[in-house]
Amino acid sequence: MCRHLGYLGPAVPLADLLLAPPHSLLHQSYAPRDMRHGGTINADGFGAGWFAPGEKSPVRYRRAVPMWTDTAFASLATATTATAVVAAARSATVGMPVVETASAPFAEGSWLFSHNGVVRGWPDSVSLLAQRLPVTDLLTLDAPTDAALLWALVRHRLRAGQEPVDAIEAVMLEVAAAAPDSRLNLLLGNDELLVATAWWHSLWVRPGPGAVTVASEPIDDDPAWVAVPDRSIVFASKTTVDIRPLDPGRQEP
Ligand code: GLN
Repeated sequence: MCRHLGYLGPAVPLADLLLAPPHSLLHQSYAPRDMRHGGTINADGFGAGWFAPGEKSPVRYRRAVPMWTDTAFASLATATTATAVVAAARSATVGMPVVETASAPFAEGSWLFSHNGVVRGWPDSVSLLAQRLPVTDLLTLDAPTDAALLWALVRHRLRAGQEPVDAIEAVMLEVAAAAPDSRLNLLLGNDELLVATAWWHSLWVRPGPGAVTVASEPIDDDPAWVAVPDRSIVFASKTTVDIRPLDPGRQEP
């Protein structure tokens, strides 16, 4: 199960978010603390998408190698500042390929997307949902993975003009209904907002003055980290964090 992180706030070096903290995404790639039901490390690739100060389009860097082996990213991350970030370290679900294009974040326009979890019964369980997509979307999936299909489903709604929080909630609930027991921590961001779900995986949020960080695991021991209750959706800007329940009736298997 992957680990992911989203940030909005003052410009920071990528390394200060992703590499330097004591339990950074880099540390979580080889020593995660809260993987829950499958996977021990996150060594099947990683990626980061970020907005340089004042930019409306993100830059994306993805690799299919363990994060700790990529010295080029380490030097890049020290020299690069960002005001918004979506990053992930991947642990491929069994049967899904380890390729660069399966690493989050997935991207289009200003949007960056990551999935931490697994779609149960893949791919049959979600074939009806997939059939609602234009065939060109299916032919151009980033990778033959559950995460890439989830992104195509979210992207389809964003392209149609749906509000990001509604698009994430709708996809999460329709996939949870079609593929029960799935783990669906979704993360969508751009330069102004973050939307994240906690659906049978860990999620934390740190609201700060003029900044917000959302992460699978806290990256440091700052007491400001708040655990997001399971089956919740987080909607955050630099100055506001809203957490509300998603279908509170369901039980963890
Ligand atoms: N199941 C997805 C994949 O293999 C998401 C990654 C994860 O959380 N293990 O790409």
